[in-house]
Amino acid sequence: MVALRFKRDGKWHEMSYAELDDEVARVAGGLVAQGIQPGDRVAVLGQTSPEWTICDLAIDRVGAVCVPIYPTSSRQEREWVLSDSGARMLVEPPQLPRGEPVAPVPRADDEPSTIIYTSGTTGPAKGCVLTPANLRAAYESLDSLVTVGAGDVVYLYLPLAHLFARMTQAMTLARGATLAYFGGDITEIVTELTEVRPTHLPSVPRLFEKVYTKVTALTEGMERERVHALVRGAFGGRLREALTGAAPISPEILEFFAACGVPVYEAYGMTESTAVISANCPGATRFGSVGRPLPGVEVRIADDGEVLAKGRNVFPGYHRNDGASRDALRDGWLHTGDLGALDDDGYLHITGRKKDLIITAGGKNISPANLENDLRRCRWISHAVMYGDRRPYAVALITLDAEEILPWARENGLPEDIAELARHPRVLEMVQDAVERANSAYSPPERIRRFTVLEHDFSQ
Ligand code: ATP
Ligand code: MG
Repeated sequence: MVALRFKRDGKWHEMSYAELDDEVARVAGGLVAQGIQPGDRVAVLGQTSPEWTICDLAIDRVGAVCVPIYPTSSRQEREWVLSDSGARMLVEPPQLPRGEPVAPVPRADDEPSTIIYTSGTTGPAKGCVLTPANLRAAYESLDSLVTVGAGDVVYLYLPLAHLFARMTQAMTLARGATLAYFGGDITEIVTELTEVRPTHLPSVPRLFEKVYTKVTALTEGMERERVHALVRGAFGGRLREALTGAAPISPEILEFFAACGVPVYEAYGMTESTAVISANCPGATRFGSVGRPLPGVEVRIADDGEVLAKGRNVFPGYHRNDGASRDALRDGWLHTGDLGALDDDGYLHITGRKKDLIITAGGKNISPANLENDLRRCRWISHAVMYGDRRPYAVALITLDAEEILPWARENGLPEDIAELARHPRVLEMVQDAVERANSAYSPPERIRRFTVLEHDFSQ
């Protein structure tokens, strides 16, 4: 049985379950040879790869604690994670320590299994401790949603430093399916999807947005039914389930894929809740919502609109940060920091982040997340950020999507330079149109009244 499938030098390679187990046992031996003992923290820094998976499984095998570091993090961020976690060792896949194979070491249910540092948008990153009990509760919750089994191919496009990817990895391998690693460039995503032909595609909005904009551009002027049939033919059929989460996605994109016969289910969760809270499921889907609470998870909305969650999937607290842990866990409820509402049928709708409110001089508080996200759907825009600036209305900073706009500029004889394009009347007109279109779904005080197009694309 094939456990892993990955691309090297333009060719696909495979690793069986038996080979994977041998590798993991040897790398675990390598960790032991370096003095790693149960409970020790081992930091892992690298791009998503089979070696990252092997390293993760090897750390688990010796009872140590995996501490992932984002490959895109700054030196300061890395140093913070290494010192705060008290890591004994740093492994940088694809380089792995190897030794004599060792047997698995069992771990108690309430001991840390992994510590994941979240992005730190509100101060230095905090280490979310997750235990085997948390992970098991999350896998059980996902049983109702994920139908992966032997013979299936799960496409891993996500960074393994993020919990969503590691949950995907664990679920795939626990069920005897094949994990196929994204081996290319986001611009080649459509081609690669047709090569891999996955049965399952857990991913983030960016992937679906890319596929959507690419397909729409390639099929301009074509009848909608034909476009749907083409998409279905290219990677539908075999694709039974796609999953999106980690950030909002527009219902328009979900409706498009549904029409193509490719169901994309939106889920909601956070590292502190071991990735799961709610999800749209086969037969229980409502576009624009993040679905109903998953089995084993209770959701409540506080008086101020904050989403609260409870369940065995909720983490025990942050690593060495009692203050932050007390803020996040109150009376047995996880305070998510997100704003939302439950509708009459129990579907959860996320409307913004509590710390992300714009207090306008007009006295109207705006939650910018949804409008920002609507704007990002425009093919030319990679990011949009709204802010208050002590005005009675919100203004926005917008960055152009270099991958889309530079080829367009070339075709249209415009300068292939982001700084110049950011000032070009034709580009400004396109952005203005996008802003007006996005604004139209919101009440006047919530709309963007002015915007600035930045001269760089910071999204790389
Ligand atoms: P930090 O806490 O350091 O700011 P983070 O919250 O982005 O980082 P994660 O745990 O990776 O770190 O992300 C969880 C957050 O992602 C949720 O609290 C929520 O704001 C957002 N999120 C997840 N899924 C969805 C979704 N389907 N729709 C909207 N927002 C989502
Ligand atoms: Mg968070």
